Amino acid sequence: MFKTVRGMRDLLPVDAEMMRHVEMVSRTISKLYGYEEIITPVLESYELLAAKTSEEIRERMYTFKDLGDRKVALRPEFTASVARLVVNKLKNEPQPMRLFSVGSLYRYDEPQYGRFREFWQANYELFGSDRPEADAEILILTNNILKNLGLKNYRFKVGHTGILRGILTQEGLDDSQQNSVRQLLDKKLWAEALDIAREADISQKGLETLERLLETKGEDALQVLSQIRECVKNYENALDAVDNLWRILELIKGSGTHLEVVVEAGFARGLEYYTGMIFESYVPGLDIALGGGGRYDKLIELFGGEPIPAVGVAQGIDRIVLALTKQKVSQKTAKENSVVVISVKNECMAKALELSNLLRKVGLPVEVAVMGRSISRALADANRRSAAYAVIVGPKELEEEKVVLREMKKGTQQTVLISGLTEAILSGSE
Ligand code: AMP
Repeated sequence: MFKTVRGMRDLLPVDAEMMRHVEMVSRTISKLYGYEEIITPVLESYELLAAKTSEEIRERMYTFKDLGDRKVALRPEFTASVARLVVNKLKNEPQPMRLFSVGSLYRYDEPQYGRFREFWQANYELFGSDRPEADAEILILTNNILKNLGLKNYRFKVGHTGILRGILTQEGLDDSQQNSVRQLLDKKLWAEALDIAREADISQKGLETLERLLETKGEDALQVLSQIRECVKNYENALDAVDNLWRILELIKGSGTHLEVVVEAGFARGLEYYTGMIFESYVPGLDIALGGGGRYDKLIELFGGEPIPAVGVAQGIDRIVLALTKQKVSQKTAKENSVVVISVKNECMAKALELSNLLRKVGLPVEVAVMGRSISRALADANRRSAAYAVIVGPKELEEEKVVLREMKKGTQQTVLISGLTEAILSGSE
């Protein structure tokens, strides 16, 4: 018996439907905010994908040689592909440029709850603006997706890479030392991160600032930012970062969007290319991020293009599905007004097919009974499929241009004129 490869999943209808539902809401939001879809290949050159991702992701890529001896890999994230496209084909497009991509990604992670080797993301990137309103838009858009899906009690962990960078740069740490600190912080290995800073000869004052900073977090965003401001007052660039984050959160508040935010000064995301605001969405008690993003103004430069500021977010579709399932939020099922059309006798089958088309034309999902079963068994099957209606097409009724319409849940039925069939179903399902 063949099995799926470790870490790969089959999605059966209920899960597949939920996944597509989250994808659909993500797509609707992309349209509402003016993000245009691009489709890039699942397979890219290893060099492109490895170029600017984190060490951790690089080591976990599915990498192989194709038959033409090219070193290729399955994409572990969208960002490199989008950057490639922006550098090569979209560089002359007017800005801002809002791009949306959705699809599967591959990482050889250790399979566990919420961590799969094949997973889906809906990705939004806004190129061309370095202004706080662009950051605010990405946060508000993420909030809208989760809200529209009916998720409850979700929060945003928010930070700014410029705070830490401002301190570490002024303290003389080079990029690679800063990356090490950031990656340790991302894994919440605070003591180890401070050790790296110590080894890099950070001043006593710098060390104390870092220690204090790592403890600074809280839900009253503007108050926490004031504390951070006080803490980093000797570091000019860190102060600019605090002001930038302040402005972003102030804009969101002013727009009337209520975000449950936890500001965390020591929050770091593993990816090396972030340059400004960073965030993750999550549900307390579910120890996994549902999505994450931030600002990466240097990204396009890193991929060889003219500098273009950018801010974006990746929504983890699988994890959003997990969170919705845990909260028992189900989407309105498509089956709500679905119809099964059953022909009583062979000679009525052509009419049954004709009627099924008629119903589909007004948007009703229709399945035709194709197993040649008796009416009672066909009805039992329709029940099992959660059909809302059965249309029973028999010779006697057809003589009068009628069929039997059965409401499956109530178990009641009536004979209706074919000319009034769609009307009878649509008015009943309101
Ligand atoms: P990242 O690209 O690592 O910033 O991840 C962005 C989002 O993608 C995360 O917040 C998760 O929701 C999702 N994600 C990342 N890795 C996985 C994985 N192995 N399995 C499922 N979802 C993932």
